[in-house]
Amino acid sequence: MQVQTGVGGTGVVGVLHGARPGRTVLLRADMDALPIEERGEEPYLSQHPGVMHACGHDGHTAVLLGAARMLTERSSEFAGSVKFMFQPAEEGGAGALRMIEQGLMDNPKVDAAFALHVDPLHYAGEIATRVGPTMAAADRFTLTVHGAGGHAARPHLAVDPVVVAAQIITALQTLVSREIDPADPAVLTIGSLTVGTTFNVIPDTATLKGTARSYNPAVRDLLERRLGEVAAGVAQAMRAQIRLDYERLYPSLVNHPSGVALVGDVVCDVLGPEALVQRDLMMGAEDFSYLLERVPGAMFYLGVRGRDWAEPRPIHSASFDLDERALPVGAAVMTGVALRYLQAGPPA
Ligand SMILES: [Zn+2]
Ligand SMILES: [Zn+2]
Repeated sequence: MQVQTGVGGTGVVGVLHGARPGRTVLLRADMDALPIEERGEEPYLSQHPGVMHACGHDGHTAVLLGAARMLTERSSEFAGSVKFMFQPAEEGGAGALRMIEQGLMDNPKVDAAFALHVDPLHYAGEIATRVGPTMAAADRFTLTVHGAGGHAARPHLAVDPVVVAAQIITALQTLVSREIDPADPAVLTIGSLTVGTTFNVIPDTATLKGTARSYNPAVRDLLERRLGEVAAGVAQAMRAQIRLDYERLYPSLVNHPSGVALVGDVVCDVLGPEALVQRDLMMGAEDFSYLLERVPGAMFYLGVRGRDWAEPRPIHSASFDLDERALPVGAAVMTGVALRYLQAGPPA
């Protein structure tokens, strides 16, 4: 296999050629972790304080290395090439886009792309798929409230950003509940509020950070515009000012019907039809969407919930875990997807 390192930061790309020239299919794994302290008793807990594979990307890496090994052993059975993508910075850093900017989709030119994500919503042994919109567009914003600090006992001589921030947070809840069609999925979450240092001082500023999620581009535009208008209006009414820094992150992930059909065929062949389950629409985000904007393909979900677990142990939580019996299942499906794509016709 030809291996290139340092693509888009710490990304790695492997290219495996089959017996004859043909199309190129890309298989993706992401590798990054999250700033969470891992809890639990298991011997394989993170050895790095405050850093944890809470999104299961170590599982994705293991799955794709397994697929790479199996496909290497079977390279005489297919025409064309398999490109293995190991990407950094999926968790907000757009590592996939950085790799695309450094030539990921060229040499050889990628014709289709597939990725999986572990999910304890589904049991180990199951694969979940969904046609069309599957993951949300996700944006990030920082809202700074500028007031005027002073003595806690003389509030009339200050403009208190704590109270203004509280009013803004409450007012922003009406965007999704009162201004967007209930049939159009949208989320607005303030995940961070930083203000003040002690009990008897009114601070100068407050900083709010949050995320806005949507599928419909018109809803995305509305959230960005009305976020600024509502926050500025509330601040003005209370003698304060705001500054809004709004950053569009990942586009929504839209699975191509042909890619989903191919994954479904492989799952039925390799695992049996009872292993294939329907994925619900969710508001998480994924930078694999940048690849599916460029080529057909699909992202699918590898069930990792143990049958004996009382609780699902969700991703992005300190209790996240995966049933490792799912890893060879993922590797087998990834291998099957590449083989079927390269042996049959491309998704339309
Ligand atoms: Zn994640
Ligand atoms: Zn993830």
